[in-house]
Amino acid sequence: MKDQIIRATALNNTIRISSVITTGIVEEARTRHHLSPVGCAALGRAMTANLLMTWGLKGEGSLTIRFLGDGPIGGVISQAFSDYTVRGYVGNPDLDLPLTAEGKLDVGSAIGSGQLNITKDIGLKDPYSGTTDLVSGEIGDDIAQYYLESEQIPSLVALGVLVDIDYKVIAAGGVIVQALPGAPENVLDLIEEKFLLGKGISILINNGKDAKGLLDHYLEGIDYKLLEEYDVAYDCKCSKERFKNGLYTLGTSQLQEIIENDGQCETRCHFCNDMHTFDEDELKEILDSIQNQN
Ligand SMILES: [Zn+2]
Repeated sequence: MKDQIIRATALNNTIRISSVITTGIVEEARTRHHLSPVGCAALGRAMTANLLMTWGLKGEGSLTIRFLGDGPIGGVISQAFSDYTVRGYVGNPDLDLPLTAEGKLDVGSAIGSGQLNITKDIGLKDPYSGTTDLVSGEIGDDIAQYYLESEQIPSLVALGVLVDIDYKVIAAGGVIVQALPGAPENVLDLIEEKFLLGKGISILINNGKDAKGLLDHYLEGIDYKLLEEYDVAYDCKCSKERFKNGLYTLGTSQLQEIIENDGQCETRCHFCNDMHTFDEDELKEILDSIQNQN
């Protein structure tokens, strides 16, 4: 099944809904970062939510979500772009925690208590930034609370990552339903029953529901209008050039030290875990150009 996002509205545009399949994206995150099952569930849910939240993002726009808790995972960071790509990482990818009493991966304990910070960059001088306290660290609840507190939009969020016994991701995805001004009062309560009862979203996806199938399931009996349908993917915007700019900030003495001691420098991107290596000639070139500037 393709990784895909769809967006729709219902009830005269008073309800907006997005659903996304992210199985391939979360599996790529797992292999790139060598994530443990709980690390995979945490980052997978965050990246899935991040894509759902990019509604209306245009041009070079990006939306970054940071789960900054006191738990042992040491932070979960995800960034999604207007071209429907996403990237992310966690502080401690090999964290291993016992399952919860219900037999689930314990994302809440991994993240702990703390704050959720959201930054929306739409190319203005100062990006918009908002912070709320984490509710449970389970990601879905925290995103819903963020929307309620910061944007006064009541929201239902379901996120799921299903990991096999060999740790491979076999199903991942999510749905968000939001009530805009004018929405019938009890409509989210009715839809919420669908969220709470029955099978979890990752089971639905594993049983073959695609992004549209998820909407049909959660909005059963409600007519909706399909607005957009796009492929989504894991993609990092990093380049060797960008890391080169970072080396310029090291200063001459530190660069000289690296050249003398190591003869090369390896930089690793947090977001995709790719390595960019600078050999002695490249380092000397950077050093020369700094010295020529002075
Ligand atoms: Zn990268």
